[in-house]
Amino acid sequence: MSEHVGKPSSINIVNCAFLIGMPILATASLIYYSLNYGISWFEPIIFIAFYLASGLSITAGYHRLFSHRTHKAAWPLKLFYALFGAAAFQNSAIKWCSDHRRHHRKTDKEEDPYSVNRGFFWAHIGWVMVDEGEEIVENVKDLQADRILAWQDRHIFLIGFLVGILAPGLVGLAWIGGIHGFLGGMIYGGFVRVVVVHHATFLINSAAHTWGSQPYSTENSSKDSPILSFLTFGEGYHNFHHTFQADYRNGHKWYHWDPSKWLIKSASWVGLTRELHKIPPKVIEARKMKRTFQKKADGNEIENQFQERFTECIAQMRNGFTELLQRRKEYTVAKQSKKSQTKDGWKAVKEGHKIRIKQCKIRIAKARIEFKLLVQAMRLNINSKAITA
Ligand SMILES: [Zn+2]
Ligand SMILES: [Zn+2]
Repeated sequence: MSEHVGKPSSINIVNCAFLIGMPILATASLIYYSLNYGISWFEPIIFIAFYLASGLSITAGYHRLFSHRTHKAAWPLKLFYALFGAAAFQNSAIKWCSDHRRHHRKTDKEEDPYSVNRGFFWAHIGWVMVDEGEEIVENVKDLQADRILAWQDRHIFLIGFLVGILAPGLVGLAWIGGIHGFLGGMIYGGFVRVVVVHHATFLINSAAHTWGSQPYSTENSSKDSPILSFLTFGEGYHNFHHTFQADYRNGHKWYHWDPSKWLIKSASWVGLTRELHKIPPKVIEARKMKRTFQKKADGNEIENQFQERFTECIAQMRNGFTELLQRRKEYTVAKQSKKSQTKDGWKAVKEGHKIRIKQCKIRIAKARIEFKLLVQAMRLNINSKAITA
């Protein structure tokens, strides 16, 4: 990897020592601790607490708030992300976001700092171990102007050590007491947790660009993987994310496992986040339909009749969603005049609104069925052509 064309590169000793040394330290100290003190409830709890705080600070904070500006956050939450993001030992938010924004602008290209085209290992961890110009900080002026992030950038390693290593030790000391409590906190909430959060995050750059489906786009190597989402606070829906990076969600359906999305949403109920940006459902679904249509047509000549039916489906679905939005707005407005009406009067008005909303949903469902039939017709057409050939 050090011979990559056109870029002078050298081994980053500090990063290498940290990335190799930390798993060794975590394993050795875990064995020593287990033999001497065993395990109780305290160790897993402290591990999970620091795992959640630092992991979510990377995914909801570094990634969705700072890198992509998918929403706005109040300063106490930003400070929390700055403190626990540092505890994840993945560099300052400013540097992390500089790399990440470059990754999105140049995905899979030479300039992509963690391009999977250079191999799984490179995308996972190799790029951190070798200096190849990633230290160039660019396209993050907005973040450099933020006082909390500028402060974090200046003292990143000190904050990381205090919050990520010393603090869990002190929590253990206060909880259990003595060297037992301090070591337990430091090993489980510090060393072991840092290694787990590291590799969970690295998997987004390696595994989420290697395994999974591409329901929205094949323009780059990003993939959707629900399994990976369980390990990475919802970041496994990476094909969706690369296609719609302005969305604060990665798993856009309510049932998609995406704790980062749930954190951002629930923080909005107490005023810690606001202006949460969502891509409209009609845009998402149209994109998915387009991708399925292209996949079916791939390598086959698309007949005019199919193209026409496809355009019709998209139009029906889009119109259905636009109307649904309108009808829902009308219903919300009507609710305000509820008190000025008689009980029966309001009941009739409410029924009328509900029927109109239902009609829109039926229209959308019909467009979906039409699309399924179209895909089936295309498949049959392709198959029959193959047989006659
Ligand atoms: Zn991203
Ligand atoms: Zn990516």
